[in-house]
Amino acid sequence: MTDLTSFIAGLPKAELHVHHVGSASPRAVAELAQRYPGTVPSDPEALAAFFEFTDFGHFIEVYLAVVDLIRTPEDIRLLTYEVAREMAEGQSLRYAELTCTPYTSVIRGIPIEAYSEAIEDARTAALRDFGLRLQWIYDIPGESGLPAAEATLEYALKHPTDGLVGFGLGGPEVGVPRPQFKPHFDAARAAGLHSVPHAGETTGPETIWDAIRVLGAERIGHGTSAATDPELLAHLAETGIPLEVCPSSNIATRAVATLAEHPIAAFRDAGVVVTVNSDDPPMFSTSLNQEYAIAADLLDLDEAGLGDLAKAAVGASFADDAYKRELCAEIDGYVAASGKN
Ligand SMILES: [Zn+2]
Repeated sequence: MTDLTSFIAGLPKAELHVHHVGSASPRAVAELAQRYPGTVPSDPEALAAFFEFTDFGHFIEVYLAVVDLIRTPEDIRLLTYEVAREMAEGQSLRYAELTCTPYTSVIRGIPIEAYSEAIEDARTAALRDFGLRLQWIYDIPGESGLPAAEATLEYALKHPTDGLVGFGLGGPEVGVPRPQFKPHFDAARAAGLHSVPHAGETTGPETIWDAIRVLGAERIGHGTSAATDPELLAHLAETGIPLEVCPSSNIATRAVATLAEHPIAAFRDAGVVVTVNSDDPPMFSTSLNQEYAIAADLLDLDEAGLGDLAKAAVGASFADDAYKRELCAEIDGYVAASGKN
């Protein structure tokens, strides 16, 4: 495992399912906690303890505490830039589609124009300073219902940023039926945005069918419960709709009881395109590297298999074709070089 660990650490990667605030690094949070003393410790050790995942309730507490520390456009710029730093320097990411929830910042008083400018500034800086390409997915926080959906659609259509490529839907699934968001996804898709809702993480396969048939999903966030529906697995395999699998997150939220019971191998065996992602990495006490190590274990992958996994994420991304070829070639080169050692 040790050899694979260092191989994974250096493997050039793309990530497709990772949340903006949920990726707040302890370093960025420490800086924000110093700006706004009170609820979150700024001392590194106390902060590390605060971040340690204990249960889902504590995750929500940490998440909301960080949301509360984002009060100005400059805070958003810092958060985004530090997320990019960790992606590039810590996880060897070359490309990421970061899911942002502008609604939660706008309702706290940051105008959407300033929000867009802040994330775009960070996007430019990430490419310049870290060689990391970022693109955005704006997601509807499902728990906030139709007003959030309407607002998020308006941000996407009336204040589009250069990096915006996708339209998503997060938050709880229970009690938040997907079909109510059909008009919003229809309008976002008509404007050229890709449909990437979360589905089937905490509810059954019918939510995934809704995401595909009603919301036009081009990838599925999680899709864990697809494992219980052979017809759905066959449909995913046939259409090539990828799953954004986040193993540690699934354990943390209890979507799956144990890693040994995780359906990722069943997805692969059914011919479904599987990508591996970290969701909210510091808050689930994980990293993309660790998720790749877990996947290597569950799928019994060697270096070449891990290279294929990394290329699957590139293929399932919304990057342009020329860049996809370039990044896949870099991954192939890395795998080939590791074989010679
Ligand atoms: Zn997610």
